[in-house]
Amino acid sequence: MVARVVPVDPFDLVVFGATGDLARRKLIPALYHRMADGQMPDGARIIGAARSEMDSDGFRKLASKALDEFVSKEDLEPEIRKRFLACLHYLQLDVMTPEGWNDLKGMMSDDGRPQAYYLSVAPRFFGTIAEGIGNVGLATENARIVVEKPLGRDLASARALNRQLAERFDEEQIYRIDHYLGKETVQNLMALRFANTLFEPLWNAQHIDSVQITVAESVGIEGRGPYYDNIGAARDMVQNHLLQLLCLTAMEPPARFEPDAVRDEKLKVLRSLEPLTDMSDVVRGQYRKGSKTASYFDDAENPDSTTESFVALKTGIANWRWPGVPFYLRTGKRMRKRFSEIAVQFKEVPHSIFPHTSAGPHANVLAIRLQPDEGITLSMTVKDPGPGGMRLTDTKLDMSFADSLARTGMRMPDAYERLVMDVIRGDQTLFMRGDEVEAAWAWIDPVIEAWQTTKPLPYDAGSSGPEDSLMLLHRDGRRWREIAS
Ligand code: NAD
Repeated sequence: MVARVVPVDPFDLVVFGATGDLARRKLIPALYHRMADGQMPDGARIIGAARSEMDSDGFRKLASKALDEFVSKEDLEPEIRKRFLACLHYLQLDVMTPEGWNDLKGMMSDDGRPQAYYLSVAPRFFGTIAEGIGNVGLATENARIVVEKPLGRDLASARALNRQLAERFDEEQIYRIDHYLGKETVQNLMALRFANTLFEPLWNAQHIDSVQITVAESVGIEGRGPYYDNIGAARDMVQNHLLQLLCLTAMEPPARFEPDAVRDEKLKVLRSLEPLTDMSDVVRGQYRKGSKTASYFDDAENPDSTTESFVALKTGIANWRWPGVPFYLRTGKRMRKRFSEIAVQFKEVPHSIFPHTSAGPHANVLAIRLQPDEGITLSMTVKDPGPGGMRLTDTKLDMSFADSLARTGMRMPDAYERLVMDVIRGDQTLFMRGDEVEAAWAWIDPVIEAWQTTKPLPYDAGSSGPEDSLMLLHRDGRRWREIAS
């Protein structure tokens, strides 16, 4: 079954770095799926621009191989593949040289259609490309520019990048991707909170005990070791993905589901985050050698590395809704499982009327699961079935999106599908504004600064991180939820 789609108008999409990993693994498959679902209009053009020497046919071959590799067999239809590949064009362009930009201009349509420039290249090229587009008169009002993390490595560099982009593009034309915001579950968090009356009255310090946000990966940094070693988990995951998830969990209801209304509320959360001045509230770790896996040092090719592959921290939000409610965040590589969720832990009932012998009642937990199996569960205390008296037990209301979609014959779309089409439609709701990015850096910068003189704690491959991370919650009389599928 084809998902309900609103077709977009014909567009030109230029992908700088179209031969790279992100383009092949995510963008090309995402665009193929949008065509298969009927969202790509006739006349849409996708122009790959990269340094490699090849022509449009060569690029179509590369894209076709990417489809074989990253789209499941049952979703590949020869007729759609043919139509999709016919939309692709290629321009050999070294963005560091002045040549080629006029050729790019010559390839663009001049019928006033949306023109998107997706910078799927290293961030050091962002400013140069924005300038190149502007120099040949392509930064018109129909143009939008798309950039993705890392958006700076601290507040100063993020500000410099924002300034560079602002020289050629208005804020309304700049799409800063955090692909977590394109995930179905994350959008569902907003639907759950603001399209139902059930949770919002309880969504505050009076009823919520604490919030845990976990993004655990089972893989290490192999393959991108020296690159990652220059970044670390705080910059790679906390500054963007974890803080964005925290914002959507904690923000006030926006007046409308519109870009600035939503982003204003997220910004207020970022600016209300309690500063991390007590370093005992932050734990950083680095994975050890496992029985079959290399140590962080070996993966990073740096025996003296002090870069963290794990962060756990406790923060709070200084406003009227959240006084005294801890937000615990953790993320790490080479952990027990690939597992991400936001868990909202409600408070215990104020008084239990049930006999002490019965198990519970236990406080409710609303878990919004991002991976591996996107969905939402609500743990409830119910009566244990049978005639054995009033015994209590825990059960889960479980909504797996994959299962729900499978029942209707639909496929779970990838985050990039939604985000790329939002760029074409000109909808910035799920993209970060420049001031949000800066506020997030302003909060995490002092922590990274404080780490300069300390070393991360070692943790076992396949574990839940360093012991101190467990202590972070134990000392508050709480514990982390299990990293489990
Ligand atoms: P990559 O190294 O695989 O690809 C880089 C691309 O840039 C290639 O197409 C290359 O030809 C092109 N390029 C390099 N120098 C060029 C030049 N001078 N002129 C024109 N083109 C040039 O990198 P990637 O993994 O695709 O990542 C691209 C960007 O996306 C990076 O900023 C990365 O941090 C970000 N990103 C990547 C992923 C991912 O899953 N790979 C995820 C999130 C963000």
